[in-house]
Amino acid sequence: MTRPKTLSKFREVQAEIERTGSAIYRDAEGRESLVIRSPYQINYIHSYAEDSPFFLGLAEGRLRGSRCTSAGCRFVFATPRSHCMVCGEPTEWFDLPLTGRIHSWTTCHFGSEAFLKETPYNLAMIEFDGAGSLLLARLRDAKQSDLYVGMPVEARFDPKPKYSITDVWFVPAAAPAPTKKAR
Ligand SMILES: [Zn+2]
Repeated sequence: MTRPKTLSKFREVQAEIERTGSAIYRDAEGRESLVIRSPYQINYIHSYAEDSPFFLGLAEGRLRGSRCTSAGCRFVFATPRSHCMVCGEPTEWFDLPLTGRIHSWTTCHFGSEAFLKETPYNLAMIEFDGAGSLLLARLRDAKQSDLYVGMPVEARFDPKPKYSITDVWFVPAAAPAPTKKAR
């Protein structure tokens, strides 16, 4: 009769389950629990509805923002929005510039499954000339110690789009973007 290996460190239990599919975890009080691998998958059918042009745009290497159509408002969003969150009127699509600046950033030492392989990774709020809101995106090919608020960055797109927000990320811009100073 075979019995799964008994281990007392959860990391070892995880590794054993990766190898064989089962293990027995013995806790500090000597209690034993059988632990097994149980694959779990859901195919979720999801509609992007009014946001669809944004995700189709990513696949074409375009970043699409939305602009309020109300003459008295014209608020510009760096994200897909079918209606203006300032005045409630419908918006129209426009192409954002593919370069922007870091507004703020953080380093993530843990993430959801899609990002675990790149952990730790940097997430930034990107600001664009002419837009009144920010876009949250990953920063790649950049060391944390090199990042600063106002750093020019440019968009990169996945050549094999998945129609997901992960189809776009930003890298440090090749040349500094000109800065406009108010006089
Ligand atoms: Zn508006």
